Amino acid sequence: MTTTLGTASADPGEIDTGRLEVGETRDGSPFGLPVAVVNGADSGKTLYIQAASDGDELNGVGVVQQVVPQLDPTELSGTILIVGIVNYHGFQVAEHRNPIDDTKMNRAYPGNAAGTSSERIAAATFEAATRADLILDLHQGSTSRMIDEVRVRCGTRHRLHGECLELAKVFGCGYILDQKGPDGQLARAAPDEGIPTVDPELGGCVGWDETSIRKGVEGVFNVLRYYGFLEGERSPEPQTRAKGFEQFGAPAGGLVDLEPDLGDRVTTGDTLFTVTTPFGEPKQTVTADSDGILWRSRRLPQVATGEYVCSVATDIDEY
Ligand SMILES: [Zn+2]
Repeated sequence: MTTTLGTASADPGEIDTGRLEVGETRDGSPFGLPVAVVNGADSGKTLYIQAASDGDELNGVGVVQQVVPQLDPTELSGTILIVGIVNYHGFQVAEHRNPIDDTKMNRAYPGNAAGTSSERIAAATFEAATRADLILDLHQGSTSRMIDEVRVRCGTRHRLHGECLELAKVFGCGYILDQKGPDGQLARAAPDEGIPTVDPELGGCVGWDETSIRKGVEGVFNVLRYYGFLEGERSPEPQTRAKGFEQFGAPAGGLVDLEPDLGDRVTTGDTLFTVTTPFGEPKQTVTADSDGILWRSRRLPQVATGEYVCSVATDIDEY
């Protein structure tokens, strides 16, 4: 059976790329999101992958760029639908939010086909995503520094929590954040439609990070093997799971000297960072409120009072 997404159309055993038209840019030109359809020779499940829903998060684009040329549709069972760049307008100007309506795309799901710019793009991609049996929404910690992890956002009480957690474990970055996300996330809206969905968060960087992209590529192939799209065994390995997340801001202005490295375990009372003067004099020190793992930190050392410094994931277990 022929499968289409936007202008991409592939028969079994074929792959095609095209555009999913969403509207027009300010000069009246039609614009479309780059899409790919990989139609397996044999029948099976459908996987939906999207990247760059936040316009400055390019590692997911790097993953798509490396995965697609490695796929042989004649050896695939099932179908893969891909939107390579979701936040079209943000991507153009390397910004996180959609500059047309100053909105974070991943707060606009399930979207509205007659709504704002972000809501229309969300609606178009949600329609594509909800054709699938499984969804991967590729993100990263923006341009901050962050470990590679997978987020389960539906919440522990959701009927699909177990299936989302399984998908996160199969993807297998090593770390899982299992915490209900804010309204409007694809990983919140799609499980409500009965589709297991996770947000792989592939590090955090300006531009591309090769290590995070490699983990993302491995994660996609882990999913393809485990769920029967590709031959080959895949038994998921135990992951370090966090269920809480604490953010720390600067108590004073100056330069941040971060004590632990990303991924380090911290214990309540451990020094997280010291704010120093330009002359190296310590001003104030901030300590961990709970046991956990240093999960994310700012990239630039300079801070104003109250500015974000780092995050510690808490409530850690193995899953
Ligand atoms: Zn993101």
